[in-house]
Parts: sequence; structure tokens; C-alpha cells
Amino acid sequence: MAGRAGRRPSAQDQQRHARGLLVVTMVLVVALLGGVGALSALVVAGASGEADSQVRELPTIVEPAAPEPEPEPEPEPEPAQDDTRAAELALDPDRQTDWNYESNGEKIVYLTFDDGPSKNTGRVLDILDQYGAKATFFVTGHEPDYRSSIKDAYDRGHSIGLHSMTHDYDKIYVSEEAFFADLEQVGEVVKEQIGFVPYLTRFPGGASNTISANYCTGIMSALVEDVPARGYQFYDWNVTSADASGNNVPAETIVQSSCVEGYTNIMLLFHDAATKTTTVDALPQIIEFYQERGYEFRAIDRESFVCHHGVNN
Ligand SMILES: [Zn+2]
Repeated sequence: MAGRAGRRPSAQDQQRHARGLLVVTMVLVVALLGGVGALSALVVAGASGEADSQVRELPTIVEPAAPEPEPEPEPEPEPAQDDTRAAELALDPDRQTDWNYESNGEKIVYLTFDDGPSKNTGRVLDILDQYGAKATFFVTGHEPDYRSSIKDAYDRGHSIGLHSMTHDYDKIYVSEEAFFADLEQVGEVVKEQIGFVPYLTRFPGGASNTISANYCTGIMSALVEDVPARGYQFYDWNVTSADASGNNVPAETIVQSSCVEGYTNIMLLFHDAATKTTTVDALPQIIEFYQERGYEFRAIDRESFVCHHGVNN
């Protein structure tokens, strides 16, 4: 064996050695390639991870907006209340209402303003707000420039009623057809402002007027039946402010005529027109008179006292 160490490597040994080197080299190459592969896999993984996180980032930007629809259910009660109020005041020919034709003994004043809107409506609304008083406006088709006051009055809690489109006695009282055509026209004017046609009406001149006899005998007798039959209700008045007796009637005269003792359900007639500035001037004193005596000021609705005049034509 000792001699074997000193002998020259045989061709077989050299071949074996070369094979060994080849194996080692191959192992190294495989290891190296494996390392590079693993490294590149890591780099690819890293890159794709980055790409993934970029892709994932999009929804994280979008996501915060998604929860927004949740708080929305809250505002619902408000439109519901508006809908209820509108439904109560809307014309509905199929609806049966238990009207209250007798005074119920409550100290209530129904302030009513005919013939508006006008340049004075805004002042009237401000005074009513100042005293926390509600009223009713029986409107016409006059003064298109002030029609937004109809919506303003309604939005501030007042009732809107139909008076007349033209207010021309010689047109509206010639026939029932002419009367209802005019009434439906002003109904559309109001609907444009508040979204519905109200059931409340007031005859020009009141149900007791005799002027209509000049154009059609018996028309008021027919209308006091047919207006309610079509789902409307008409409201006359039991106290007048006397502001229709002329233009610019002194405020003191209007106050004296409007302030009465001993009534319980007062339906008080005023006019809302450009020429009725003294009516507006008189209004605070009239409201104070009734407030001092414990009266409330309410807008007319289906629960309210219904005041009807006797018919004279
Ligand atoms: Zn009138």
C-alpha cells in the first residue's frame, strides 16, 4: 500500500478525478443556478407583490366612499311630514271629511288674506312670523311677479286657498262652467308653486254676494252645492277688517273693525294687494289685541271651523 502512494496516477485515476471535478462543478453550477433562480423568484415575487399591493390599493381608495349611504335614512321624517300636510290640504274629490260647521268654543282666529299675492305679501309674512301667527291666503292669478310668495307662505306654515284666476265677476259668474274653468286655472298656478291643488276656496264676494245675479240668476245657489261636490270646501268670514271699503283705509279703522269681543272661532277677512298697505300697518295691533285675550292664530285645515254665509242669489 505504501508503494501505491508513490506511484504516478494511472489513466483510470485521472479519469476518476476528472469525473469528480465535473460532479463538483455541476453541483456548484446547479447550486448557483438554484440561488439565482431563488433570487430571481424573490425579485419576481417582490415585484408582483408590489404590483399586487398597487392593485389592492385601488379598492382601499374607493372603499372609504362606500359607507356613505348608511346615514341617509335620517332625513326621511321631514318629507313624510310635508307629505302629510300636503295630503291634508290637497283637493281629493273621493275624500269624505267630517266638516265642523259649528263654532267649537275655542279661542281661535283664522286670519285670511284675499286677492294676493302682491308686493305686500312679504311684509305680511314677516309680521306673522314675528308673532308666531299662522294664516290662510286665498290667492288669485294677478301679479305673476309675486307668485313665489305663494310658495314662501306655504313653506312658512300658512295655508293656501283658491280665490280666482281673474276675479272678474262678469266672467266667473256667467255660468258654472266658466266658474270652474277659472277655479281650475288658479289651481294650476298654485300647484306650480306648492306641488298640489288645495281644496280650500273662497268665492269672490263671498257666497252671499248679490253681484253674481247680474250675470246668472241662481248661480251661487248652484255653486254652494257643486263646489263641495267636487271635493273643495269654501270659507266665508264672520268678521271683516273693512279694508275693502276703499284704498288706504286708515289703519285705525281697520283695527277697530277687526277687533271684536266675545267670538270664539273668528274668520277674519283681509285683503293682500298693492293698494292695501294700511292693512299691513294695522296687522300688529290686531294680532296683539287677540293674543292679549288668549287667542291662537291658526291656518285653516280640514279640522277648522267652516264659516258659510247665507246665499242671496
Ligand atoms: Zn277678492
